[in-house]
Amino acid sequence: MKTVKIDMHVHTIMSFDSVNTPKFILHMCRRKKLDGILLLDHNKYPPESFIKYLRRRGLIVLFGNEFKTVLGEIIVVGTKFNVHWFRESPLELIEKTRDENGLTILPHPFSRGRNFKDINLVIRRVDVVEGFNARCFSQRENLRAMEYARRYNRAMTAGSDAHVPFEIGIAYTLVAAESEIEDLMEAIRKGKTALRFKIKVPIWRMSSAPIKAFKPLISYMLRGVLF
Ligand SMILES: [Zn+2]
Repeated sequence: MKTVKIDMHVHTIMSFDSVNTPKFILHMCRRKKLDGILLLDHNKYPPESFIKYLRRRGLIVLFGNEFKTVLGEIIVVGTKFNVHWFRESPLELIEKTRDENGLTILPHPFSRGRNFKDINLVIRRVDVVEGFNARCFSQRENLRAMEYARRYNRAMTAGSDAHVPFEIGIAYTLVAAESEIEDLMEAIRKGKTALRFKIKVPIWRMSSAPIKAFKPLISYMLRGVLF
């Protein structure tokens, strides 16, 4: 069985606190020898043009929305329905995603300041728990996530949560699957994954506030090098 190497948490420049243009993402994926990525944005889906650009250049691109519900963030993958209806009801969001053959991931469930408020409510319902998120300040948060996933027999993924290019590939997931998207999502759902990561102080997490503050200027400066 083939194994593919996927960074399961990469933001694009469309997120308010990210500067990852498609061109930067492609460059870093090649440098880190990643087969693919899960492309995400905060409360929206990444643009179709970004997905197409990266796929045309040979990358496997899963896409989704890291959506903030009243209890915390839930990642939905492979669907395109309007998630905003489900802000108040994370359980319905999970159900709806399942109905549409999508995948739900509980990202950084124990990360201080961005933890999920009622993990017991959703742990049996989500498909996947993010066992390692490279932006967690304390490794205890990741250990707890892995422990919980094992206890409740959930599939696990690892991702960099990259908001700047240098972060891409710090953590990634090995998936025992072929490169077809359907196949890959099914393998992840079944837990045919292995987590790979380097433990680093997530200094780039500090970049979020300045990026947010200067976003219009940054976007203007990067407009010519998106692709
Ligand atoms: Zn994220």
